[in-house]
Amino acid sequence: MKVVVLTGAGVSAESGLPTFRDPDGLWEGHDPMTVATPEAFAADPDLVQRFYDERRAVLAQVRPNAAHVALARLEEHLGDDLYLVTQNIDDLHERGGSKRVHHMHGRLRAAWCTTCDRRHEWTDSLVGRPACPTCGQATMRPDVVWFGEVPHDMDSVQQAIFDCDVFVAIGTSGTVYPAAAFVHYAIGNGADTLELNLAPEPVSDFAQVRQGPATETVPAWVEEMLR
Ligand SMILES: [Zn+2]
Repeated sequence: MKVVVLTGAGVSAESGLPTFRDPDGLWEGHDPMTVATPEAFAADPDLVQRFYDERRAVLAQVRPNAAHVALARLEEHLGDDLYLVTQNIDDLHERGGSKRVHHMHGRLRAAWCTTCDRRHEWTDSLVGRPACPTCGQATMRPDVVWFGEVPHDMDSVQQAIFDCDVFVAIGTSGTVYPAAAFVHYAIGNGADTLELNLAPEPVSDFAQVRQGPATETVPAWVEEMLR
């Protein structure tokens, strides 16, 4: 059985990481357009670097939760037949034990050098413009996908969905891209579809929707899968 799991902010919320936008539309007190676009970075690189430096530092204070651990357990059993793609830029899936994680929006704990195009594991600050370990230029930015940029691994994600028997979206709205697009590929392919969400939309294209905190719904679903 081939399974594709898409996770969003809801899977990390119970670890203490805020979901992308608060009800007031702000992200950690910032309008996302001022910290998460190439134009914002060009206009005020220090502000943007500092914002991601803070987000990166917070990762040291949070821990993976039962949902991350359950998905790692599923991977232990399914191996390459589980394709885990996340919108999250945190590293909680990896720290929960998952070894094959596709970060469609990049990773906080990585820096991307725009001169030589190399990516480096990065746990430190970037606001001081450290030299790229490969080319020496001070042109590294957070390796995260900003608004207006192309998500990573999209060809691979689409192929995995076209090939899967089960598509599950966790902690991400089933009515908003990318889950909304992915579920249509999955349905077109005849796959079973399931949405696990704290507060699912009243209307969903998923065959089944389960409501509740990810730390409860995800371990319960993984138990069923392993039975
Ligand atoms: Zn470089």
